[in-house]
Amino acid sequence: MTDAPLIDPFQRAVNYLRVSVTDRCDFRCVYCMAENMTFLPKKELLTLEELDRVCTNFVELGVEKLRITGGEPLVRRGIMTFFDSMSRHLESGALRELTLTTNGSQLERFADDLWAAGVRRVNISLDTINEAKFAEVTRWGRLPQVLRGIDAAQRVGMRVKINAVALKGFNESELFDLTEWCASRDMDLTWIEVMPMGDLGNEDRLDQYWSLKDLRARLAERYTVTDLSERSGGPARYVRLEETGQKIGFITPLTHNFCESCNRVRLTCTGELFMCLGQEDMYDLRPALRGSSDDTALKEAIRAAIALKPKGHDFDYSRQRPDGQMTRHMSHTGG
Ligand code: SAM
Ligand code: SF4
Repeated sequence: MTDAPLIDPFQRAVNYLRVSVTDRCDFRCVYCMAENMTFLPKKELLTLEELDRVCTNFVELGVEKLRITGGEPLVRRGIMTFFDSMSRHLESGALRELTLTTNGSQLERFADDLWAAGVRRVNISLDTINEAKFAEVTRWGRLPQVLRGIDAAQRVGMRVKINAVALKGFNESELFDLTEWCASRDMDLTWIEVMPMGDLGNEDRLDQYWSLKDLRARLAERYTVTDLSERSGGPARYVRLEETGQKIGFITPLTHNFCESCNRVRLTCTGELFMCLGQEDMYDLRPALRGSSDDTALKEAIRAAIALKPKGHDFDYSRQRPDGQMTRHMSHTGG
């Protein structure tokens, strides 16, 4: 049956697609990009129509959750057309959630339109609430602009979750300030362990590595921390801080503890499908997409890709050397 749900060789249903819509960004976060990045020529990118077609085919194959990411998804020209168009799948009931991960810089401009397209939750990346430190870590970002974006998202009614990369000696000192700030705005907070992505260049990410185990222990010094059984099918685990009622997430992508429940695949802005965050194997959907306007070939290609989804990933992160280092940047696969 052409529209049978996507099940991988390990009997995991794939119902979550993360889509990078651009490799470009208006920030240059130090752990993510070099300051002088060379971006892909426009013709390499899937057009908005092609993105629509791939996503629609995934939805027809049972994908219920779409997360739009990048690069910075909201700097892609015309991106609201894509969100508007995806909202038809929410209306039909085929899609349960349309959401995005953003640096927040363009949210003031787009919050209303995103809400109108059916976006009810947004993840906003923010590592510090200190203006000077924010400029330092994002190089080109400005905190007040992002804060206005967060205000706008909350004003239209979106639920906001903050994602912060845990960086030793950088936002370590802000652990409680960030927690309390999020609590005061009724926002959950998820910490991401820094990953040895891309070329390390001069900045050795292991110097910045701050273990989430340590971070959690520090939280427990001040709050009552209750484990939540809730799992997302991804690399996040959650706790509740009883005093604030907040949900705190911990994303440790380098551990293997989530592979058995992995429900997701990632589409790059050039149409490559990555079946696992920790492996280089990918399936290029572009030939099927551009070879014919008939969706049968595209669906076959998607199924062929899912059949290659590995059991788990291969990072070997000994904390001493970045052995499991990947050669692609997070901005390529969207994190
Ligand atoms: N530009 C958007 C943003 O920043 O939210 C979406 C794309 S960004 C690549 C997605 C997430 O990846 C962000 O939360 C960012 O902090 C995270 N990220 C980027 N490089 C990382 C790294 N080396 N280790 C851990 N997380 C990283
Ligand atoms: Fe841009 Fe997001 Fe990467 Fe920062 S983490 S450079 S905002 S893509």
